Amino acid sequence: MEPLSIAIIGCGPAGLAAALLLARQGHGVHIFDQFVSPGPVGSGLMIQPSGLAVLDALGLAGEVLRRGARIDALQGIEEHGRTVLDAPYDALGHRGAFGIGIHRASLFAVLLEAAERQEGITLHADHAVTGSTLSPEGRRLVFAKADPSPPFDLVVDASGWRTHFDPAPKGILPFGALWASLPLEPGDPFAGNLLEQRYRRAAQMAGVLPIGTRAAASGPEVAFFWSLKADDYAAWADTPLEAWKSEVLRLWPDLAGLLARITSRGQLTFARYAHRTHPAPVGERMIAIGDAWHSASPQLGQGANMALLDAWSLARGLAEGRTLAEKLRLATSWRRDHVWLYQGVTRLFTPLYQSDSRVLPAVRDRVLAPLSRNWPARGIQAQLMSGLFGFPLAPLGLALPDYDALSASLISASASGAPQS
Ligand SMILES: Cc1cc2nc3c(=O)[nH]c(=O)nc-3n(C[C@H](O)[C@H](O)[C@H](O)COP(=O)(O)OP(=O)(O)OC[C@H]3O[C@@H](n4cnc5c(N)ncnc54)[C@H](O)[C@@H]3O)c2cc1C
Repeated sequence: MEPLSIAIIGCGPAGLAAALLLARQGHGVHIFDQFVSPGPVGSGLMIQPSGLAVLDALGLAGEVLRRGARIDALQGIEEHGRTVLDAPYDALGHRGAFGIGIHRASLFAVLLEAAERQEGITLHADHAVTGSTLSPEGRRLVFAKADPSPPFDLVVDASGWRTHFDPAPKGILPFGALWASLPLEPGDPFAGNLLEQRYRRAAQMAGVLPIGTRAAASGPEVAFFWSLKADDYAAWADTPLEAWKSEVLRLWPDLAGLLARITSRGQLTFARYAHRTHPAPVGERMIAIGDAWHSASPQLGQGANMALLDAWSLARGLAEGRTLAEKLRLATSWRRDHVWLYQGVTRLFTPLYQSDSRVLPAVRDRVLAPLSRNWPARGIQAQLMSGLFGFPLAPLGLALPDYDALSASLISASASGAPQS
């Protein structure tokens, strides 16, 4: 394959994974990000088996597991104590499968460190991209504060859902969430290997996700989240913190110890989500991947995993197509059905957990919950959660990791004294 000069906009999971894969193919890669010094914002996320397949193929699954926390199931309990969501990964039927809760900073660090070790990648911080121009020499990037770039053979837009390259409305959802990364202490009443959630209908939701140990942290942490409508954010900001905590504790009294570790509003970040799909992810010398192509609420925990799959598909497309146009067409064609499926399913499921409806959470608790305990719904639920619904791995030539070997590598890392979560 002839080496290309490639610009990647954005240093998130999509951009960093694409940079690694494309540089390993021999292309010259420049990543441009708006941040002044590298660092992700936000708290935790879930790496699903689908995304772990990509990290495994990159040789990074063991390191991600070491810095994150193994998650064996998702458990949701409604306000009266009934379990209405019980989704274990072992219902997948794949030996030893699990998810990984991880701090964004840890995932970012694993990918960035690998990119820094890889020849052929140059990172340009403080380069906010505002557009691009096309000429016979290639596509140049236009920056907010610098001269335009030299021409590139290909520009990869991995700048997330606020991308400048999709002028369509962003489809911002009414509900977002407050997030905080908090230290996990001995005696905390959390299972440690579960993503735990509590619901009051669909209007209130609290969650706790173990996210392992960040390099900068002194011990393991959890991501705490609390569902909040954007329209209610101003009222929340005016409510005394203790009054808000009392409201959360009415739903989930066991959070008392964790909430006591929130001493200022500054520890909480309000995140909003957008549900949108770029109508034309491929243009001339240009392709959108990750959230820049498609974004959704994180209710199914798929965004970073979809981003990793997109990056893999792009690298495979570049390796297999004969012309640049064909390479890009192949890259999106292998992902299109999976993207379409998950955009649809996430749109359907989100109001069951985040909405003002009284009917939808009743359907969730009285119809879907009992159904999901039995065959075949139990397996389908595990596939959905794992990012494997619609069989996305086969067209990409990927396979699920050997979970036994991964777990064994964690045990041997711990025996050799490497830091553990
Ligand atoms: C609160 C929350 C919880 C989530 N939980 C999960 C989860 O559990 N599991 C999961 O898989 N996903 C989850 N997601 C979604 C996931 O975070 C995203 O889908 C994922 O980060 C997308 O990766 P990306 O690389 O496409 O974009 P991003 O991670 O958004 O990265 C985009 C990068 O581009 C840079 N950038 C943006 N604009 C410009 C510009 N103009 N010029 C230069 N650089 C630019 C940004 O600085 C950033 O570094 C969650 C999202 C949120 C908000």
